[in-house]
Amino acid sequence: MRNKKTVIVSNRLPVRVERRNDELHFIPSEGGLATGLGSIYQQEGNIWVGWPGFVPENEYEEAITREKLAELNLVPVFLTEDELQGYYEGFSNEVLWPIFHYRLSYAVYTTENWHTYQEVNRKFAAVVNQQSPSEKDEVWIHDYQLMLLPQLVREQHPDIAIGYFQHIPFPPDEVFRSIPWRDELIKGVLGADLVAFHTYNDSQHFLNACTHLLGLPIQNNSLHVDGRSVYAEVYPMGIDFEKFSALAASEAIRDRAKEIRNYYKDRKFILSIDRLDYSKGIIERLQAFESLLKEYPELREKVVLYMLVVPSRDTVPQYRLLRDEIDRAVGHINSIYGVNEWQPIAYYYNSFPVEELSALYVAADVCLVTPIRDGMNLVCKEYVASKEHTDGVLILSELAGASKELLEAIQVNPNSIDQIREALKTAIEMPMQEQRERMQDSIEIVKKFNVRHWVKIFFNRLHEIKTIQKQEM
Ligand code: UDP
Repeated sequence: MRNKKTVIVSNRLPVRVERRNDELHFIPSEGGLATGLGSIYQQEGNIWVGWPGFVPENEYEEAITREKLAELNLVPVFLTEDELQGYYEGFSNEVLWPIFHYRLSYAVYTTENWHTYQEVNRKFAAVVNQQSPSEKDEVWIHDYQLMLLPQLVREQHPDIAIGYFQHIPFPPDEVFRSIPWRDELIKGVLGADLVAFHTYNDSQHFLNACTHLLGLPIQNNSLHVDGRSVYAEVYPMGIDFEKFSALAASEAIRDRAKEIRNYYKDRKFILSIDRLDYSKGIIERLQAFESLLKEYPELREKVVLYMLVVPSRDTVPQYRLLRDEIDRAVGHINSIYGVNEWQPIAYYYNSFPVEELSALYVAADVCLVTPIRDGMNLVCKEYVASKEHTDGVLILSELAGASKELLEAIQVNPNSIDQIREALKTAIEMPMQEQRERMQDSIEIVKKFNVRHWVKIFFNRLHEIKTIQKQEM
């Protein structure tokens, strides 16, 4: 008898294909999801379905890609430039992303992009449905680009186990209501048996939307949909703790961290790392840093803000504007406060390898993570995992999912320049003993609730739900 097959689906595959000088290169992702799910999809018979990150120019490239990826248990969904534009940039990043991050005015609604989103979800469904013909199998669908997929798979496989995880927030139903196609979106998600989020609030918002928009009554945390119980639950995602902790302990990284510190003359080193995104609170963070230099002149020349912004979605107008705004704000602060020997902000618009990130985490006295909204935020957990042997203080937005777990961080409202400034002052002056005690508590949490644990408890619960559903029949 054939064993159960697990199918993972996400917008992107954990390996991306790049064309360089007419040759295709297959580059594995170092992201947390790829690590967490590595032990699952790499098992014989299991697969991961997703976009390979490039548009093949001909059938030969498509065939080679398919073949190479098949060796890694990966199945590509090829998309055209137009599909990517409408489904990914247009609908996912200009409707769902802003609405789910509470930025109503940033949403751009076009029926054409909605149609492309539907078509691409159907394209994913066709690939998944080809792969998963047995009712014993299980499918785990990831994130907001694929909200219609659970139902599209359910239609073909009524009894199969389907999980959906949303990595970004789910807004209150009055915000979600702004989307003209909101009902179709939640009906799509409700094809899953287990719908999961990083925080309790997100799961409650989702349940409220189901009740208020579709009239489905809630029983504790479940809904009855087409004779099936669907559960909305909370599984905060973890990181690969061992990887970050081992990197931080290695001699090469410790040497590099020392080099970085020496370069900045052992000034208090404040670290900020995000993708370019308006949800990350980068401008407010810069304002707070300026306010620190203004209100506490004695700290000038004694601190450095090392700010890494990773390029992202730069074809979307809001992102280009934000980038210009950051350039201006950094230029303003450095030109007003900088002196020959000292520039207050070291700003990089770039992407660094994980070894360099690790060295920065080890080097940093303070990690400043202040998103205006963030589903989880992994940077703060990576910082914590890098701090087993060195001191440091985490300043964390109370509006990041991670704030529900990292209670010993200095928590701030990311819209309050004053709170961020005072948190910086407190962090800079915090006695070593207190730093150690607080960090130790955070380390224990990040270590225990790591990404492998997250994957394990999600699948355990999905199996449990299938058993409950059978008993209900
Ligand atoms: N990251 C990276 N290269 C960089 C900077 C950051 O790969 O140059 C990674 C970082 O290690 C983290 C991820 O990007 O794992 C960011 O995840 P997070 O949840 O903080 O934010 P997101 O970008 O998913 O909104």
